[in-house]
This record gives sequence, structure tokens and C-alpha cells, in this order.
Amino acid sequence: MASQNLRTPGPTPLPPGVREALARDMIAHRGSEFAAILRDCTEGLQWAFQTKHDMITLTTSGTGGLESAIANTLSPGQRLLLASMGYFGERVGKIARAYGVDVVQLDFEYGRAVDPQAVYDRLQAEPDIETVFVTHNETSTGVLNPLPEIARAVRQVRPEALLLVDGISSIGSVPIEPEVLGCDVVVAGSQKGWMIPPGLSFVAVSRYAWERQEKATLPRFYFDWLQARRAAEEGGTPWTPALSLFFGLQVALRLMREEGLQQLFKRHQRLARFTREGLVDLGLKLLADPRYASPTVTTAYVPDGLQAKQLLKALEERHGVVLAGGQGKLSGQIIRVGHMGWVQQDDLAAVLRALQVELQRARTPSTAATR
Ligand SMILES: *Cc1c(COP(=O)(O)O)cnc(C)c1O
Repeated sequence: MASQNLRTPGPTPLPPGVREALARDMIAHRGSEFAAILRDCTEGLQWAFQTKHDMITLTTSGTGGLESAIANTLSPGQRLLLASMGYFGERVGKIARAYGVDVVQLDFEYGRAVDPQAVYDRLQAEPDIETVFVTHNETSTGVLNPLPEIARAVRQVRPEALLLVDGISSIGSVPIEPEVLGCDVVVAGSQKGWMIPPGLSFVAVSRYAWERQEKATLPRFYFDWLQARRAAEEGGTPWTPALSLFFGLQVALRLMREEGLQQLFKRHQRLARFTREGLVDLGLKLLADPRYASPTVTTAYVPDGLQAKQLLKALEERHGVVLAGGQGKLSGQIIRVGHMGWVQQDDLAAVLRALQVELQRARTPSTAATR
């Protein structure tokens, strides 16, 4: 089968070197070889996150990493300010409520960024909120939040508050600098910008987050960060890790180092601009506020008279181009083009060419009817 041009915002394609590493035979996960791999990956992740915070790698998808952030920092009935502007922000609300957290949800319209002033005002009005959660890059809408401004608003009103960040579709492709901004917990997911399959979540944990972790009393077991830290000190993980993904991660991090972090950030910016401009040239209307358009995923409305599902199906069947549709209330309304991880301009030019053909076909009823 011809290989697909997979342009969903996760999972993303794998470089050949990563695929080879994934095919390796198993090793003992309590041995010295894995200890060396874990150490190497942890250092590489800290480099990519631009942080000296502790780095925990959990065998779980991104949602598990988010759940760990809630379970390790909060206690029953405690309040959490959640600034949400899309499907993944809402998911954090669901996780926190499932754990008995009192969620104060500040909702922003889909396609818009979080307004730092609104976060500021809400914290001023609610003196008992000590934890804030924000999605850095909302993958459902293609919006990158102004995290520095949001973090500054939090620090101005409540310097001692914990700031938890979903960086699943940003970190590794977009700079954050957790210490500079005062982000206490930053969560990533392996299948987004990291060029490896789904199954690992990386969590950066600040000193303040560890202090909170000691006091936090929500139930936790598999996702207990302290277990992970103790095991790491012994060169391992508390539970059997997804070994193959670590093999792949080691190679992927090496590729990222070869490219260089600043180059990598620039490539994502450049490809995002290329994608946005290409979609606009095709006559599509973009969803995201242009001031906050994401470097890793671009969203566009499906033109009137077209069905998102049919368009996506035609792109896949006739061109091998795989894009994503809308989630939640955007279902059926938009298409999403992922451009994170192992991606070059040619991949996106092929997406645009395929879209051009299919939009043209849809606008020409006679051909559409005969096919
Ligand atoms: C993909 C994604 C998630 C969910 O991660 P899973 O790996 O599907 O559990 C959460 N938040 C954001 C911003 C994402 O992009």
C-alpha cells in the first residue's frame, strides 16, 4: 500500500530511524541498559522542554499525563481555575470533576485565545484559588494561547499559586521555558511533536509542585509522581514501561538535537504560515484568531454546501492525504491540518494540492455526479 500523507494533529509520522528502533527486541526493564536509556531520554526531554524541572515519563497517552497533574497537586474539594477555549480544555474540567475538584471554569469562545485579563480578574475575585490550569495550544481549534501573558497575570495576583499547563501539542515544537514563565507542571504527549507513536506522556514538575504533591490528598496510584521519582533514582520506572517507545524516543531526541531547538521552532512557524496562506488561497476561512494561530495545527471551516466527512474521505481515498475533522461542537464544521514533528513543506504542499482538486471537484456538480 502506498504510504499515507498523515497530517492529523497526532499521531504524526515516524522517521525511518525511529521505526527501526521501535522494531528492536525487548530488554529487561530492571537492568543497567534501560537505566542508561531512561537517563538519556530524561536529559533529552529537559533539553527540549528547556527546563531543569524534574521530568517524569509515564506510560500513558497525554490524557493520563493530565490526570496525573490533577491527582498529584490537588485535594478533594479544592478549587481549580480552568481557563478553557476548546475541547481539550473541557476534558481537563471533566478529569478534575471526576476527582472531586471544585472546578471554576472560565470559558472562551472556540477559535479565540484565553484573555489574560479575565484570568487576572477572576483570581482577584476568588482569593481561595491556589491552582490554575491552562491549555497552551488548543489542538481542537488551532489556537496558541499567550502563555507568557497568562502566566504573568497569575503571578501578579497569586504568586504562590501552582500553574499547570497542557503542553501536549506545543512543547517540543513551540518554546515554553517553564522556569522563566513560572509554569509548575507542563504535560506533553509522545504522538504529537515527538516523532514517536502514542503511549508516553512527559511531565515536567517544579520544586513548588513537589511541595504541593506532598500535601495533596487526591487518590493516586499508577500516576503517583513520587513512585516515579523514587524508581528513577534507582534507574527505572515503578511499573513496566513501554520499552519500545523509549527506544524510539532516544532516536527522535537525537534527531531533534541534530536539527537544533531554535531551527525546529522556526520550521514549525514557517510551515504553519505556509499552511494558513495556502488554505486562504484556496478560498477557505480559517477558524483561529490570526493573532494566536497555532504553529502546530491549522483549522479551517468547511465551505458551505460541502460535508466535512465526505471531503476528508475523498482526500484520503483519492490522494492518500489524512486530515482530521472537528471535535465536540466543531464536529462537521472544520478540518484540521497537523504540521508538527516530522514534517516538511512538500508534505503540506501535497495537502494543499489535494484540497484544491477536491474543492474544485465539489464546485463542479457535473463531474461530481458522474463519479
Ligand atoms: C492530543 C491532546 C490531548 C489528549 O492526548 P491523548 O494522547 O489523546 O490522551 C490533550 N490535550 C491536547 C492539547 C492534545 O493535543
